[in-house]
Amino acid sequence: MILGVIADDFTGATDVAGMLVGAGMRTVQVIGVPEGPMPEADAVVVALKTRTCPPAEAVAQSLAALHALRAAGARQIYFKYCSTFDSTPQGNIGPVADALMDALGTDLAIACPAFPDNGRTVFRGHLFVGDVLLSDSGMRQHPLTPMTDANLVRVLQPQTRRRVGLLAQPVVARGAQPVRAKLQALRTEGVGLVVADAVANEDLLTLAEACADHPLITAGSGVALGLPPAYARRGWLQPDAGSAQLTPVQGPAAVLAGSCSEATQAQVACWKAGGRTALQIDPLALAQNDRHAQDLQAKALEALARGPVLVYATADAAQVKAVQGKLGTAEAGERVERCLAELARALLGAGVRRLVVAGGESSGAVTQALGLQQLRIGAPICPGVPWTQGLWEGQPLWLALKSGNFGGPDFFAEALQQAGVAL
Ligand code: ADP
Repeated sequence: MILGVIADDFTGATDVAGMLVGAGMRTVQVIGVPEGPMPEADAVVVALKTRTCPPAEAVAQSLAALHALRAAGARQIYFKYCSTFDSTPQGNIGPVADALMDALGTDLAIACPAFPDNGRTVFRGHLFVGDVLLSDSGMRQHPLTPMTDANLVRVLQPQTRRRVGLLAQPVVARGAQPVRAKLQALRTEGVGLVVADAVANEDLLTLAEACADHPLITAGSGVALGLPPAYARRGWLQPDAGSAQLTPVQGPAAVLAGSCSEATQAQVACWKAGGRTALQIDPLALAQNDRHAQDLQAKALEALARGPVLVYATADAAQVKAVQGKLGTAEAGERVERCLAELARALLGAGVRRLVVAGGESSGAVTQALGLQQLRIGAPICPGVPWTQGLWEGQPLWLALKSGNFGGPDFFAEALQQAGVAL
């Protein structure tokens, strides 16, 4: 194994795995730390669900993943978080980065969420989503990790014991050698975590080349774009062009949406506008008794005979706020996630073999409930979202785990069509 990746959520894990596969690295994603041996691959991505859990739990799980990856021979460790730097002043990006650096005995790592192909760029330490600052994007109203400051040096500093510094774009634009020199200068000044700018894929390639020998990289999926070529240049990797093949499957299809991000809101609206079956989860009704969940399940299974069905909890910021005011943020989220997980089990029991899940936490809940242990990574549906293949009760299942903010308005239909579903 060359690279061991620790991903803080499930959609993020498939995102970075897709990036590595696309650049020719044989990659397997495992769901949590496997009890048995790690799979044989150039890269193994351990999917955790640690983005919003208490920091101590995130640290413990990340360290367990680190030990397993190192025991399997990983030369380099990559801590993958969201391209919108989803975190709170308590963590979990800072605490996990600190713990991994301590365990690896390294005093410097970059922090770079940039993913230009998806409109996430970092300039002078400020994260942009498309043309607006992170703090002006829909992320300011995220149900669990609202991002109200775009200055990543300022966002990261309260989360970490280390000093946070900046590697600005003009240096990155000059190439890997000037980047190495600047990182060394920052290290001498006592900086431990370096927010790294990147506004284009070339910057990601430069960062990857400059940091391919670091024990730890912390980043979104973007920097992973440059690692396979950097490893190949070092003679560690023989790129494999056929690494993204999945076995075709038959059977009904469904979409489960637990994300409230603006992109997912648009995708739900587009699906409904196309006259397709859509059933809405009401979190307040879920909290009253079991009837709402049972009702949704019965309706979803009945609708499957007529074509793909979407079940969604997706709502706008005002609706989410109202629900959270009544139930509390954590309870609202957990109830919706439990409902989605039960729906997924029922849908697969009824024969569904192609399933799209929208939302990082939501995907984690569904994947864990299905008891999936490994995912093979297939072709991308859009930047950051590949189809994956797992085994459910011994049968192949196609699963697309979509980060809430990814994909165009017609993403659900595009994904299903790519999986061979007639619409
Ligand atoms: P994203 O990828 O957009 O961040 P996630 O699935 O990670 O999406 O997070 C969305 C969170 O919001 C989940 O915990 C989900 O259960 C919760 N949620 C979804 N719909 C609602 C709703 N209508 N009201 C309150 N919380 C909701």
